[in-house]
Amino acid sequence: MSTLFAWPDGVLTRRKVTECALARLCGACGRPLGRPIAFLGDAGEVARNEFHSPPLHTECLDRARTAAEAEAEVVLTAGYDFVRPTADDTDPEPRFRPLAPVGTS
Ligand SMILES: [Zn+2]
Repeated sequence: MSTLFAWPDGVLTRRKVTECALARLCGACGRPLGRPIAFLGDAGEVARNEFHSPPLHTECLDRARTAAEAEAEVVLTAGYDFVRPTADDTDPEPRFRPLAPVGTS
């Protein structure tokens, strides 16, 4: 199995996350995203509707789950905003805010 695009050394890499966000690439395979777009997150991320892991193809979810073990919940959406942290932000990491989630599983 090849490594995951946004987890090149098994660790989520901010540069790759940004690349996925701006170029609309899948965090697992690095190919352009279609729809729906899937996000993996923990319960807190789902509750805030803000995700640190990059967008994924639905068919790449299983591979990405392996990399992000604790991030078990899935939200499907047609689009997202990319949120860059500001200087006084309590969360220093960039994150994704799905637009009009179309479902969870
Ligand atoms: Zn993919």
